[in-house]
Amino acid sequence: MREIALRKKIEDTASGMNADFVGIANAGCFENPEYTGNKPQDVMASVQSIIILGVGVPKGAFDTLPAGRAEYTNTLMAATATLRIAAFQIAKIIEKEGYRATIVPTEGSEFGYWYADRKTLKANLSIKYAAYHAGLGNFGMNHLLITKDFGPRVRMTAILTDAPLEREEKGDLLPFINEKCSSCMKCIEVCPAGAISQNGEIDREKCAQYMFNVLGGLRCGLCVKVCPM
Ligand code: SF4
Ligand code: SF4
Repeated sequence: MREIALRKKIEDTASGMNADFVGIANAGCFENPEYTGNKPQDVMASVQSIIILGVGVPKGAFDTLPAGRAEYTNTLMAATATLRIAAFQIAKIIEKEGYRATIVPTEGSEFGYWYADRKTLKANLSIKYAAYHAGLGNFGMNHLLITKDFGPRVRMTAILTDAPLEREEKGDLLPFINEKCSSCMKCIEVCPAGAISQNGEIDREKCAQYMFNVLGGLRCGLCVKVCPM
């Protein structure tokens, strides 16, 4: 089938361009009433699939925090740049097959929430939520995706497309919140902005204020560094 061949081409291209993982979510997952963020359907009315590409971020970038904040920030940017190039190539491949594709901005990107809704600091859609539905991991108390191979030390991007690419034989989804969190809570304790609360809420404004007002735009990363996953 045409979609199976396209999916294989996407996966091969992603791994050939240094992505460490790729997943595909059915865009219908955003119609779940429990999801309260922005939806891809508001950007592309005909969207069928969300392709998620990700890389593991080198561990040295976390080990050297907080002294190495500039290095950490630059390493994140390098990861995003890697993903952008791969995503662009994949978008071109999809369009050669007669579908449409557009690349989702990365939430909390190096542009400093430039892409986000000013009031909520939320991106056009949660890439992490799509990644969860693609079976790539589940959520931590730090509101990051906890992946099997890299824990929360990942960077991701996503492509919206009207190509129906989702695999039919998908296993059960993981629990929404990682089961190890309840006996850990290290990210809550370490957060210098008090942005993560015990009930799993995150105050984006507090996190953003800390990064821009205290760190001058550099990324913080402490809630990722302490995560044992
Ligand atoms: S630091 Fe602990 S509580 Fe926070 S996300 Fe990681 S495992 Fe969960
Ligand atoms: S990045 Fe820093 S300020 Fe933001 S939630 Fe994590 S620890 Fe808190």
